[in-house]
Amino acid sequence: MSTLEIKNLHVSVETEDGAKEILRGVDLTIKSGEVHAIMGPNGSGKSTLAYSIAGHPKYTVTDGEVLLDGENILELTVDERARAGLFLAMQYPVEVPGVSVANFLRTAKTAIDGEAPKLRTWVKDVNAALERVTLDPTFAQRSVNEGFSGGEKKRHEIAQLELLNPKFAVLDETDSGLDIDALRVVSEGVNRYTSQGDRGVLLITHYTRILQYIQPDYVHVFVAGKLAESGGRELAEQLESEGYDKYVKAAAAL
Ligand code: ADP
Ligand code: MG
Ligand code: MG
Repeated sequence: MSTLEIKNLHVSVETEDGAKEILRGVDLTIKSGEVHAIMGPNGSGKSTLAYSIAGHPKYTVTDGEVLLDGENILELTVDERARAGLFLAMQYPVEVPGVSVANFLRTAKTAIDGEAPKLRTWVKDVNAALERVTLDPTFAQRSVNEGFSGGEKKRHEIAQLELLNPKFAVLDETDSGLDIDALRVVSEGVNRYTSQGDRGVLLITHYTRILQYIQPDYVHVFVAGKLAESGGRELAEQLESEGYDKYVKAAAAL
């Protein structure tokens, strides 16, 4: 059993007009076996939360902590966070020209496990992971994210998720820009990963559509840099019919 605890997290970014506070006290605990969906309007700080957990240098934590099994991961480098068992799938993944998917995955796996995976089984594992997300084996020879379609990027992320098998995965808008077939393939991959029982997911989205495929245990509304409401799946249904308006107004009135 593992726990990812976000406590009173405050995060700022440097802008032309000085530091701007984006996260204003986020509190959230995720246990292994749980899927938490975070939903919220554009610009509320959802991606900032994901990047801050991952350790993106642009985001400065000014208060609070993020504990993985009691250890403050904010003191760890990005690589150390991955080794500790965190995985981040980004809304805007970077291109890595000249690095093939196969090499990228092998390097990531080696970094996390502390030793290189055995080549024969690894090639089979990679091919099987690609096949599960309906990517052709030749995809392994392409440069990471270079010229990938939206669907290919997300399928590749899910293949990575299954191969690296982290304790906790933060998935930022894994559903954005996907057609219905890709959405199903990606969701099935997330479900295979969570069905191992001891894995936890923070699923960030603005749409309820993906929640028809990935059933969250908890749904949180994120507005103006913090959680405005938490509940079960019924909260997603309420948001689908009512939108975020009520929460946006309440946050603005503070
Ligand atoms: P969301 O993912 O919920 O749409 P973001 O976390 O991307 O929201 O952004 C939250 C707010 O922080 C927005 O107002 C955005 O413009 C601002 N922001 C995020 N990153 C930066 C940055 N690097 N520089 C300046 N402003 C930023
Ligand atoms: Mg909770
Ligand atoms: Mg975002």
